[in-house]
Amino acid sequence: MEDFVRIPAFMEFGFEDLKREVVDRGLCSRCGTCAAFCDKIDISDKPKFRYEHDTVCGLCYTICPRTFISMDHVERKIFERTRRDEEEYVGVFRKCYAVRRSDMFEHNGQDGGAVTAILAYAIDKQIIDCAVVTTCDEKKWRVSVKVAADYDALCASAGTKYSIFPSVIGVKEAIEHGYSSIGFVGLPCQIQGLRIVQTTEQPYDINQDKIKLLIGLFCMENFSEEMLDFIDKICPLENVRKFDIKGREMCIYGKDVHRIPLSEIEHFVGEGCLVCTDFASELADISVGSVGSPDGFSTVIVRTEEGEKLVNGAIRDGYIEAEEIKEEGLREIVKIAKLKRKRGEKMSSR
Ligand SMILES: Cc1cc2nc3c(=O)[nH]c(=O)nc-3n(C[C@H](O)[C@H](O)[C@H](O)COP(=O)(O)OP(=O)(O)OC[C@H]3O[C@@H](n4cnc5c(N)ncnc54)[C@H](O)[C@@H]3O)c2cc1C
Repeated sequence: MEDFVRIPAFMEFGFEDLKREVVDRGLCSRCGTCAAFCDKIDISDKPKFRYEHDTVCGLCYTICPRTFISMDHVERKIFERTRRDEEEYVGVFRKCYAVRRSDMFEHNGQDGGAVTAILAYAIDKQIIDCAVVTTCDEKKWRVSVKVAADYDALCASAGTKYSIFPSVIGVKEAIEHGYSSIGFVGLPCQIQGLRIVQTTEQPYDINQDKIKLLIGLFCMENFSEEMLDFIDKICPLENVRKFDIKGREMCIYGKDVHRIPLSEIEHFVGEGCLVCTDFASELADISVGSVGSPDGFSTVIVRTEEGEKLVNGAIRDGYIEAEEIKEEGLREIVKIAKLKRKRGEKMSSR
C-alpha cells in the first residue's frame, strides 16, 4: 500500500527539497541522474540549481535514487516479479557466469573484459546504437563520460576507474546526438536512477523509452578525485596502467606494484556511497564484477529476459566464453553484499 501511495511523481517538490534532504545531508552519490534529465541542474560539483529561483516541477526529486526508491515496485516492473528472499539476496536473476572476452578481441579489460565484449556484441547486432561508458585520460586518470558507437571507442573505456563521476549525464549527450537505443554501463546508484526514470508513473516526457540496456557494475564504494592526487605522490599517475581492489588493499600497477591498505584511503570514499545498500547493481539487465570468479574472469549475473538474450547471443557468436557459476561463487557475492547492506543501513539510520 505504501508503494502505491508514494510511487507517482513528487510533483510538489522542487530542487530546494532535494538540496535539503539529499545534498546537504551528504547522501548524494553524484550519479548524475538529476542533471541528465533537467537542464536547470548543474552537477560540476555537488548538484546546484543554475537559477536564482527554484521552479517546482518535481522531476529532480522524483528521479533521485536517494529520495525514495521502492525496489519491489521497480522489480515488478522490470522482472515481473520480486526477488525470492533467500536464494536471491543480490536481486532477481536467471543465470550467473564466469566470463572472459574471446581471443577475437584485444582490449585489456579490468577482469575478463566481459563488459566491453558484450557491448561490442550489442552494437554489432544493433541491439543498441551506442553505449554510454566512463573513460579517463591516460596520463592523469581524470574521469569523463563518453558516448561510444564502435569497438575502438568501447576499448578506450575498458578498465575500472575508482573515481566518482556523474556518468548518467552521458545519456543526455547520447539523446542530443540523436541516438535512440542507448546502452549504459554504471554503478548501482546510477542504475537505480535510470530505473526510476524508466518505471515511475510520471507526466514527464524525458526520452526514457530510448534507454534500452543497463549494465550494472558491482560496487562496494567509490572515491573522490582527490584520491588521485594522493596516489600521484606514491606512484606517478602517468606510469599507472591499472587500479584494482584486492581484499582490503588498493593495488596500483605502475612500474612496480604498490599496495595501499584501504584504511589509508577510506577518507576519500564518497560520502553518498556510505548509505548505499546495493552491491550487485540489483536492478540492471546484467550485473558484472570480479567477486565470485577466478582472476582473469568477470562474474556476469543475468537478470532480465533482454539480458539473457544478449549474453546467450554473445556466447553463441563467439564474443565471450562463459561457464556457469555454482553455489560457492554465489556465496562469495552474497557475503560482500551483506557487508555493504549492513553498512548502508547503519549509516542511513544515523
Ligand atoms: C568504483 C567501482 C568499484 C567497484 N567495486 C567492485 C567490488 O567491490 N567488487 C567487485 O567484484 N567488482 C567491483 N567493481 C567492478 C569491477 O572493477 C569491474 O568493473 C567489473 O568486473 C567489469 O570488468 P570487465 O573486465 O568485465 O569490464 P571492462 O570490459 O574492463 O569494462 C569496464 C566498464 O566499466 C565502466 N567503468 C569504469 N569505471 C567506471 C566508473 N567509475 N563509473 C562507471 N562506470 C565505470 C567502463 O565504462 C567500462 O565500460 C567496481 C567497479 C567500479 C567502477
